[in-house]
Amino acid sequence: MPHAVSSAVSTVVHTDVLVVRIDNPPVNALSPEVIAGLSRAIDEACANTAIRAVVVLAAGRTFIAGADIKGLEGLAWGDMSGAPDMHDVLRQIEDCPKPVVMALHGTALGGGLEVAMAGHFRVAVPSAQVGQPEVNLGVIPGAEGTQRLPRLVGVEKALDMCISGRPISAGDARQAGLVDALIEGDLEAGAIAFARTRIGGGAPPRTRERTDRLPPREALPTMLTAGRALAAKVRKRLEAPLKVVDAIEAAATLPFDEGCRRERALFFECAASEQCKALIHAFFAERAASKVPGITKDTPVAAVSTVGIVGAGTMGGGIAMACANAGIRVRLADTDAIRVEHGLDLVKKNYDVSVTRGRFTPEAVQERLARIEPQAGLGGFDGVDAVIEAAFENLALKTQIFGELSATTRPGILLGTNTSTLDIDRIAAATSRADTVVGLHFFSPANVMRLVEIVRGAATSAETVATALALAKRLGKVGVVVGNGFGFVGNRMMLPYMYEAQFLVEDGSTPGEVDAALTAFGMAMGIFAVDDMAGLDVAWRVRQEHPPFPDPSMRQPLVVDRLCEMGRFGQKTGAGWYTYADGRTPAPDPEVQSLIVRLTAEAGLTRRTVAADEITERLVYTLINEGARLLEDGIALRASDIDVIYVNGYGFPAFRGGPMFYADRVGLARVHDRIATLHRELGPRWAPAPLLSRLAAEGSTFRAFDAAHAG
Ligand code: NAD
Repeated sequence: MPHAVSSAVSTVVHTDVLVVRIDNPPVNALSPEVIAGLSRAIDEACANTAIRAVVVLAAGRTFIAGADIKGLEGLAWGDMSGAPDMHDVLRQIEDCPKPVVMALHGTALGGGLEVAMAGHFRVAVPSAQVGQPEVNLGVIPGAEGTQRLPRLVGVEKALDMCISGRPISAGDARQAGLVDALIEGDLEAGAIAFARTRIGGGAPPRTRERTDRLPPREALPTMLTAGRALAAKVRKRLEAPLKVVDAIEAAATLPFDEGCRRERALFFECAASEQCKALIHAFFAERAASKVPGITKDTPVAAVSTVGIVGAGTMGGGIAMACANAGIRVRLADTDAIRVEHGLDLVKKNYDVSVTRGRFTPEAVQERLARIEPQAGLGGFDGVDAVIEAAFENLALKTQIFGELSATTRPGILLGTNTSTLDIDRIAAATSRADTVVGLHFFSPANVMRLVEIVRGAATSAETVATALALAKRLGKVGVVVGNGFGFVGNRMMLPYMYEAQFLVEDGSTPGEVDAALTAFGMAMGIFAVDDMAGLDVAWRVRQEHPPFPDPSMRQPLVVDRLCEMGRFGQKTGAGWYTYADGRTPAPDPEVQSLIVRLTAEAGLTRRTVAADEITERLVYTLINEGARLLEDGIALRASDIDVIYVNGYGFPAFRGGPMFYADRVGLARVHDRIATLHRELGPRWAPAPLLSRLAAEGSTFRAFDAAHAG
């Protein structure tokens, strides 16, 4: 009979083995009840002389999947009650005189792996994964992980795991020395059998006393330097991975307890940092995005096993890959056999690259390609469970396609459009079932980028939105529901940002200087490089229908139309704001610079030196001001949704949380003052958003606005 030792842990005696079961749904996160229960279970094992070994395992789909992130969030904002000191319980487990076997399935991550490493042995099912992903939240492992892991797997492997944050498979962990045996079949029975083989073998091995995997002193500096280089490469600008190196250095040079104290000090430094606050915000913002007014867990979600995709171009092909990767069958349609073949060739080429980079095996690619069935025209779409249209950006074409889809597909199925700028309601009006029409705005490359803006039209039903959210999740993406307004959220903010960058160049900067300031701020790419990648012709066409500043008395960009007229569309033509000798690497172009100088002189502008601070301020504040307008208009449901969109779709640094979180951290009063000043100096495009003015006057934040409005 199980015996509850806490609300989250129970024990069962199996003759001579005590099985300790953690049961804290949904993911057995480390809570005070789990920690107290583990401690009491070890007491029980010590007190019962019939017990000769202990197995610790977890109920449900996973071992302890990590620490409680709410607790970490509290810490980041100064609430120390969320910082349980695990030292005592870990020592108690390790000091148990009877062998303690940790039996792993699902994921043993963060605090979960740290608990597992305090046991004397670890066994795992082959599908299990283990890792120390703390850097993703801006901290280092804080429960002795940086001290035990190098003692088990060596300094180099420990650095790699803690800096990358990437989990490794049970098989890799077995090879590395982190897992002692793989258990095929029943984990509990296998773990008990394994534990019995360790009975009577003398004092069980304590990881904290091991030094055999630690490198000789003279080898250490090279390893640490390599660790710092790895951090700079794969975790650009993040502070926590560098602290990981310091903590692992302590493991290799100090006695265990001293090393643990050093780790704890470094952990608290990280937890108090701006980066940790921002990364935790980004984490919870993503969770909040899935909560949408009018949609509950009871809202029906349609099952999708086959998707029809209209248009086998750049986006259609990428979306087809995303679906095939998620195990969804695809009917990929274009107007004729040649075009669809061409689209499929591109898909194959992209998969070839994945094989070369070791992301997929050739067999996995074959499996995926077998899920994509090419076809000319929309015949056979009566069998699909959802449609995603990614044909040319043209309203007449899209309404014609949706009219046909409405007549030929099964009633009620989701009809999504990947339009970047068109009105969803006008597209929906071409069908006899506007409730099933929704925008599914993927980002390029669609098989890689995580963001999908889910655009809710006036008639879109809750069921359609819920199905879209579920589909995005299944594709491994983050779906953010937004309102149907020009540019939705992401591009509506992007356009003024893009034009402000052009004004900076006209004021005296260069495209290279602007991009350098943005990447120094942490943006994945500079705006001019982004523009060249997307193609200048795209915004050119948009400009013809939607002038950037419709009031002709407002400042108009001088240069970009000239570049388009010269056929400089960016990477695709080998030249745009930059030139591309190899097709991909931007190089400054003196011809563009002299064009800028000439056009600004003709317009009577006086060029001046523009400092990097001014560049980032004007560009990031443009995003914030437009973001505030979107919130006020209800196009964005929450400030945190805007952050999710910018971090996942536009390369805004996660370590700054997103533009709206960044504004909160600068202080809305300060942001507002600067925008008001820029309004006076630079004209009406800088008029402060009324919501920003109000929140600034109230001393409030976007975070508080979210809490009051959307929860
Ligand atoms: P693309 O030109 O690469 O591909 C469009 C494809 O649609 C072409 O292969 C074309 O033959 C096909 N097509 C045209 N009419 C068709 C019809 N009646 N039936 C079937 N196929 C038809 O364009 P793209 O860049 O993939 O863009 C597609 C859509 O996605 C557009 O609405 C665009 O605004 C949007 N979008 C593009 C990007 C991007 O970065 N490229 C990003 C987000 C959204």
